[in-house]
Order: sequence, then structure tokens, then C-alpha cells
Amino acid sequence: MLPLYNGSTTEWSESMDQGESIELSGIRTHNLKNFSIKFPLGKVSVVTGMSGSGKSSLVFDTLYGEAYRRYVESLSSYARQYLKQMSKPDLDGVENLPPAIAVKQARSGLNQRSTVGTMTELTDVLRILFGHLSKVYCCGQELVKATGPYMAQDAMSHFSGQKLLFLAPLDAWGKLKAADLKPQLEAQGFTRCFVDGEVKKISDVKATDLKRSMIVVDRLTATEDNASRMIEASELTLRLGRGKGVVRGDKLERAYNKQLACPSCGTVYVDPSPTLFNHNHPQGACEKCQGFGRMPIKDRAKITPDLEGSVSTESVSPWNFGEHKVYYRIAKKSAKTRGIDVTKPFKNFTATEWKWLYEGDGGEFDGVNGYFAYLDTKRYKAHYRIHAARFTTYVLCDECHGFRLNQKARACQIDGENFVDVVKYSIAELQGWFQTLAEKKDARGAAVEEATTEGSLRLSYLIKMGLGYLSLHRSARTLSGGEVQRINMARSLGSALTGTLFCLDEPSVGLHARDSRNLLGVILELRDQGNTIVIVEHEKTIIRGAEYLVEIGPGAGHRGGNLVYSGDPKQYKFEEKEWPKGRPLSAKEKYLVLKNVTTHNLKNLDAKILVGGLNVVCGVSGSGKTSLIRHTLYPLLALALGQDLDDEASEGDEKTGILGPADVVKTISSVHFVSQESIGRSTRSTIATYLGFYDDIRKLLSTTPSAKALGLTPGFFSFNVPGGRCETCKGLGYVVEDLSFLGEMPVTCSTCRGMQFNDDALAITYRNRNLHDILQLTIDEAREFFFETPKLSKALDQIIGMGLGYVRLGQNTSSFSGGEAQRLKLLRLLLDAVDRKPCCLIFDEPSTGLSDRDVQQLLLQLLRLRDAGHTVIVVEHHLGLISAADWLLEVGPEAAAAGGTMVYQGPAAGILTAKDSRTAPFLE
Ligand SMILES: [Zn+2]
Ligand SMILES: [Zn+2]
Ligand SMILES: [Zn+2]
Repeated sequence: MLPLYNGSTTEWSESMDQGESIELSGIRTHNLKNFSIKFPLGKVSVVTGMSGSGKSSLVFDTLYGEAYRRYVESLSSYARQYLKQMSKPDLDGVENLPPAIAVKQARSGLNQRSTVGTMTELTDVLRILFGHLSKVYCCGQELVKATGPYMAQDAMSHFSGQKLLFLAPLDAWGKLKAADLKPQLEAQGFTRCFVDGEVKKISDVKATDLKRSMIVVDRLTATEDNASRMIEASELTLRLGRGKGVVRGDKLERAYNKQLACPSCGTVYVDPSPTLFNHNHPQGACEKCQGFGRMPIKDRAKITPDLEGSVSTESVSPWNFGEHKVYYRIAKKSAKTRGIDVTKPFKNFTATEWKWLYEGDGGEFDGVNGYFAYLDTKRYKAHYRIHAARFTTYVLCDECHGFRLNQKARACQIDGENFVDVVKYSIAELQGWFQTLAEKKDARGAAVEEATTEGSLRLSYLIKMGLGYLSLHRSARTLSGGEVQRINMARSLGSALTGTLFCLDEPSVGLHARDSRNLLGVILELRDQGNTIVIVEHEKTIIRGAEYLVEIGPGAGHRGGNLVYSGDPKQYKFEEKEWPKGRPLSAKEKYLVLKNVTTHNLKNLDAKILVGGLNVVCGVSGSGKTSLIRHTLYPLLALALGQDLDDEASEGDEKTGILGPADVVKTISSVHFVSQESIGRSTRSTIATYLGFYDDIRKLLSTTPSAKALGLTPGFFSFNVPGGRCETCKGLGYVVEDLSFLGEMPVTCSTCRGMQFNDDALAITYRNRNLHDILQLTIDEAREFFFETPKLSKALDQIIGMGLGYVRLGQNTSSFSGGEAQRLKLLRLLLDAVDRKPCCLIFDEPSTGLSDRDVQQLLLQLLRLRDAGHTVIVVEHHLGLISAADWLLEVGPEAAAAGGTMVYQGPAAGILTAKDSRTAPFLE
């Protein structure tokens, strides 16, 4: 048992006293119990402890929070007036606090268009390089803007020794009448023109033919002696041809243009510049999709899902929307005059009938398309927008194939490759491309020099972070929280900041045990640049490699908040955990079998999933685990079960592989992907509403004598409808204000002073607490408070069992971390899934954010699901969970092209003898 320090003493090793340190005293933020602590400046410190112990309250809400507050305070007086409304860290004093940067896993701030390239700013680097170095190609040739000397030199190199005709096309002479042209040319001394393959006298050519002919400007032999005359002739030709000119040798001719125009197809291009490669800029954006890469289309399968249905059975889904049912009446009226049978099932519709249904009759009935066009004019109404979106599917833009750039941008190449080719490279391949570029020291400005250096540096950090397998065009939304954070870290490293405090939030999340060592190396490098690093972390490699360790605990919530350990990480004793082993497998086990999977980097892979077992899928980052489970198994199984995907990232453009056998698939009733995406965007969603027990709390309040006397129903205490809630903030307790440079920020509602309800509602109390007080309770406190209500107690016990006892009842679910959100989803499944028909539940790194002790709790819950007959699939790096699998799969052996094969599948213990396993060396 570790010694428990209570109060304000900090164990401080001798060596740490040598240098300066950040000193925090009397910390009481959230559950922290009034202690003081020092973090050595210029060193790496780790803060550890179980979920809810107060680690984040210390590092992010106190240490970083105070630094941020000081930063904002230094900005302007305008900001200061709002400071009192921002939550202020609760502490007595701070010494030696440097400016701070928090690198979190948050995906907020990532917009729809964010990619790995924009996040790392490498796209900007590439834009500069392409803007300066690329050449335009069309119809298989490089386009060059012609000048006199260029044209003369080019003609010399192609037609050396031949007799040349310098010809100026007249097609650009525009408005001038053909009859007026002739005397003008003759007056200028031109007597011959080239038309229909031969030189003729201008006087012999019909005026109407003159416009399509070319004037013979000069005749010269291509020799060195004539070099300066050739330049003069070229310049005159370009002038006379209004920027265009042709040089004809004995047999062939070459066309020149002062503009970037293709001599073969005539397409006119623009000079490459960085903005040309920006899909957010009109110059570079694909015209068809406006640079979005995908196009919304109305999906017939969603609009008329029931092909047995008809107009008369009201089977046009979008029209079944309140008063919009009127569309059926209009359709029927139109059908009558057109002779269309409204009782005819859609499956028997002819092309003409479909056309009628979608495009209307050109009169009063404007069809499904007209209906959506009408909705579009009402976009400002949120529920119309949401309704229309239900029938929309996004398909890859067929013009730019998802790469968002227009043809003019795509025509620009550096060494035979265009922008799209380059953003498709993995970061590791891109580094090679940069090297080749850096070796060629040809005519380039300082901008290019700087961009190549900058780009190479960024790439090297990304590779050190174990992200070499990502490509720049990968959408940010498909990245895991850990990947997002490591990209942000690489960015901080590349920024050359020094004297800064970096607060990192579990940087090892999603990393294979092997890669944690590289990560530690990068963290030490950040320190060596003169920075101080404080990390919230559970991973042992990082903890052992740090210079100072702090543990907050011992429990969560009010059972935590103490300083349990501070000092040398080497002296710290890890609690050793016993992990249960997988169940023995019999010959009668059933397996789902996936065959010939080639999704992303997978190499024609076959995989087996144990039905009714705990399956764990491991492998190094980028090996193909996610491609196999999230992008293949899940969509295929959903398709086989006739289910919609509830995870957008799983809707891959390609679905490869075959899933079977059919009789085993049939034993599964449904499939659920439990992602780390935050729960609901509703600002009114709380753990109580999400898990469904808020109703029980409302009922309790409505049965109190005072509520009964006033005739208040449970509905009165709702957040969603007027009644007891504060109408100014609609029950949120805050309103969002736009504070210019700080962006939008929640500010306490002035009507209810943050109490969320009006005075009538707040007057109703249950066991001396009103609804606002109740919502402020943590789950732990609520468990004690509601001990007389068995149904509530049971639900609360389960939340506590998931290590979420520290969460407040009224806390908005969108504020939950990815790991917390996922466990909450798991809970919701548990609350009703245990009694459900056997289904397949897929979890994406559920151990995220959990200490070993919490992971054991999580494992117990996963085993409960398994024991209830469900098939559980977990994509994981956590070694304890891996060793507990009934059925273990490793994808790899390495990342990207060096991965994508099945390294091992079988009972967990068998992996120790798998020769290519990158996981086995870390297991006992
Ligand atoms: Zn062309
Ligand atoms: Zn496009
Ligand atoms: Zn209010």
C-alpha cells in the first residue's frame, strides 16, 4: 500500500531542488483537496491516477487553466470583463508559471474539410512548392508562355538547318471585317499568307478565307548566323498574331502562345501560384463540387425504400412529414389527368412513371425533386434541413474524384507528378519526395528553400510520432483521438517554441506498446528545446521515462483529489494486476468468416471472428486493424443484416471482401459500432437523459406533496418543453455569446443565474434538494441520495462500475472525452442489451483514458456482454485486454504497405509463438 499524503506537503527529491520549478499552492479546483505541488522547469513530469481522481483537474483546469487565464488577461480590457464568468482555477498561489500550450485529443475545431495535410500545414508547404516549381501539362506536352527569344531558341532546336516560315494566325483579329483586313496587311508590307497547306499571295486569297489563314511574317533558315533575326521575326509574329505564332519547318510546325494555352486543344491555363492549389479558393476548387470532394444526391433507396409500396399507400418517405402529406393529394390529382395508376407498386414503375414521380408533370405537381427544392428554400428552419438530410447520400465527386482540385490545378506537375499524386503519398513516402526535391538546387527562390526545409522537418517529426503511414489527403474525421493529438504534438515540435509549458493529455492513446518508446524520444526532444512538459498518462514506458511523477488519488471523485505520490518515477511501484484468461474453445464454436479483404492496405486477407466470444484485434498503428473491422466487417455485417450504418466513417468508398457463412450470420440479430465520437450534439443531453433515468428523477419530484398541490406533472420539469425551465436559456443555465477574438463562449444566464429553472420549479424539493441541486450531484453522491429508489440505484451502480462515478448528473454529454463517451454508450447497451437477442458489438479502443484498475472494470462489463451471448469485438493496444481475449487477431506486421496481413489469429496464448508478432514481445 502506498503512503497517503494528505494536506499540503510534497515529497521533493534532492536533485529537483537544484533547478527552478513551477510552484502551485493550496489547490482546490474541483475535487482537489487543498495541496501544494511543484513541477520542475525544463523537465518531463507525468501525472497519473485513476479516471476521475483529479489528474485533469490538476494539469488542465489548474496548471494550464491559470496560464491561459493570465494569457487572456494580458490581451485586453475587453476580455477582462468576461473573465469573472470563466471558471477560475481555485488555488492560493502560483510561482514561475511559463506560457502554456495544451495539446489535447479534442477533435473540436476540425471542420469537414480538415485533412492530415491541413492539420500539419504540410498542404500549405506543398502549395508553395507547386506554386513555384510546377509546370503545366496538357495533351501530353509542357506548356510554356512564349517570348521572342524562347520561340526563336525552340524553333532552332527543333528545325536546325531547315527553311522556316514564321506565321501569324489571324483568327484573333476579331471584329475587323475580312474586307478591311486585306488593305491593312498590304499597307504594312505583308504580301503572303499560309492557307490550306500552302503559301499564297494575299491578293489571290478570297477575303473570307483570309480570317482562317496565317500571315507569312518572315522566311529564314535556322542557322546560328540568323539567331538575332529569328528573335526579331518571332517577336513580330507574336505581335501580329495577337499573342499567337507558328513556326513551320520542312514538314512539321510548332505553335507558340504568349498565354499558357494548349496548342492542341486550346485550353487556356493560369500561371501556377499557391492559391491555385487551394481547394477552399475559387481559383483551385473543383467547379462541380466546389472543392468539397463529395456531392450530395437524393437517394432513391431512402426516398422510396419500400418498393412494394405506392403513391396511394403513402410510401414516399419524405412526404410523410407533418402537413407535407398534401403532396400526395397533388400527386394523385396529377396522376388522374396523366393516366398514371397511383396504386401501382414502385417496383413495377416504368422509366416514364419514375420520371413523373421525381420530376413532376411540369405543372402544379413538381415531384420529389420539386419537393426537395422547396425544402431548400426553407433551409433556415433547422427541422427542414434535418428532414432533407435524411434522404441525402454523399457520393464521390466524379470530376475531381474526391481530391477537390479543378483540372487547371491538376494539370500542374513537378517531375511528372501533380498535386493529387503527391497528397496521396504516405508521410514516409513524401519524405523521400522532399529529399529528391532538396537535392535539385536549380533556380528557386528563398520561399522554396524555406518550404522544403520546413516540410522535411515536419515530416521527420510525424514519422517519429509513428504517423508515417498517414497520407495528407486523409480526412481528419477518420483519425483516432490519439492520432489527432500526435499530429498536434508534431506541430508544436516544428514550431520551435522554447521556454513554454506543454500540457499533454495521454499522448500514448492508440499507440502500440512498441511505439511508446519513440513517443518518449519525441517528448524528450521537446524538453531539450528548452520546454517544460507535464503529461497526464497511464502508459508505463512514458511514466518510467519521465523525470518526475505525481499520482493523484487514491479513488475517484470525493474519494480522490489527494496527492498520493510525488517524486522519482523509478521508485514508484506499479500495482500489478492479474488479468483473466480467455475461455477454453470447443470444437463446436461458430465463426464469422471474412474472405479476400483488400480494403485500404489489406492484402487479400482472410479473418475469423469467434461468435459469442471476446475478440480482440491488435497490431501496430496503421497496420490495418481499423480497415478490417470498422471499414470492412462492420459495413458488410450491417449490409447482410439490412441495417443502416450509424458510424459515418465506416461508409467507405470501396467495400471489399466476402462475409459468411450465411447460417452463422443469421444467428446475429444486429451489429453496433460503439465509437469514441462524442454523444449527440444536443446541448441538453446529460448522462441522466442519455441513460434514460432523468424521467425517474422528474417523476420523483412530481410526486412530492408541494408539486401535487400545484398539480405539476413530470413534464413540468423537462428541459425540452416550456414549463419549469428558464425560458431565457431554455434550461441550459448559460447563453452563448460571441466574444470576438475568443470565439463563442458560454456565459452564465442572467435570468436564472445558472439555475436552469424558474423559481416555481426550484421551489419544489425532494429530500431538501431542488432539481438544480440534484443535477449538480456527482453519480457517487446521487447513489447515496437516491438510496430509497431501487431503479435509480441500479442504474447509478452500473455507471460507478464503469469508473464514471465522478461525473455530475447534469453534465453535458458533449463535454465527455472520447473514452468517457464510449463507456457511456457501452452502458446504454448494457442497460438493455443484456436481455436482447445475440448481437455483435464493436468497440474502438475502449481502454482510452483508463488506468489499469478502470480497464479491469471495463473488461468485466465486456465479459458480461459476452456471457449474455453477444459477440464482442475490441480493437485494442492494452496488453491486459489483449491477454484476456477468447480469440485474438493481430494485423500487421508493420504499418501501411508493410502491413495488411494476418499475423496471428487464435486463442490469446498462442500468439507468443507467432513469429512476426509485434505484440508478443510485450506480453508475459
Ligand atoms: Zn490540351
Ligand atoms: Zn469535385
Ligand atoms: Zn436561464
